[in-house]
Amino acid sequence: MFITRLFTLYPEMFPGPLSEGLFAKAIENKLWKLENIDIRKYSSDKNLKVDDTPYGGGSGMLIKPDVIGSALDNNVVKGEKVIFLTPRGKIFNQKIAKELSSEKVVNIICGRFEGIDQRVIETRNIEEYSIGDFILSGGETAAFVFIDAILRLLPGVLGNENSTKEESFENGLLEYPQYTKPQIWEEKEVPNVLLSGDHAKIKHWRLSQSEAITRDRRPDLWQKYNKKN
Ligand code: SAH
Repeated sequence: MFITRLFTLYPEMFPGPLSEGLFAKAIENKLWKLENIDIRKYSSDKNLKVDDTPYGGGSGMLIKPDVIGSALDNNVVKGEKVIFLTPRGKIFNQKIAKELSSEKVVNIICGRFEGIDQRVIETRNIEEYSIGDFILSGGETAAFVFIDAILRLLPGVLGNENSTKEESFENGLLEYPQYTKPQIWEEKEVPNVLLSGDHAKIKHWRLSQSEAITRDRRPDLWQKYNKKN
């Protein structure tokens, strides 16, 4: 069973969207478990304060290292991955999701305010990941995205294992256009080749569509793909 252990100041936000559909089934089939750790419980302050002002000045507050350190030390088992979600992290992608899906336990810290004290990141061997070049108000929404991407790669979570193999990013390209019934909708027809039953031709058409879309929308991916092929 894959375990995600979340460190958050808002434990009541979870499982939230991670309790529906595929995820509900993953829990029911004991493929995945979510453990929720309330960071505030590890404050030694009588008012359960968790944050303080940054040294050197500047706006906002930071989560204190003693609080987050104690939360980690009381829950993380040696050898487990610990991840801090932060816009300063390496950009999260499908490849990283796949790597993480083969771990037994992934610990995830959700930041709030301006983030966490740098010393915890260094002493607790924490890896930093960002879900994109924008700023969220907290790591919780990033965690939904992060966990969703990993869970659907766990064996048995998606009904059809093959469906992840054909998706965008799997071969370094974006996905080709897809069509379903009806064959004619608002006078627009499904591309003929898809009705041909000729699997080699369909495969070729899909690849060329994938290539054209990737070249047009994602020059960064296109360049990498070209180098590889
Ligand atoms: N001062 C920070 C931003 C803090 S945003 C900076 O400039 O880098 C508050 C919290 O939201 C962060 O600690 C982080 O946990 C989360 N967060 C915001 N944007 C994120 C993103 N793009 N990816 C992952 N986590 C993010």
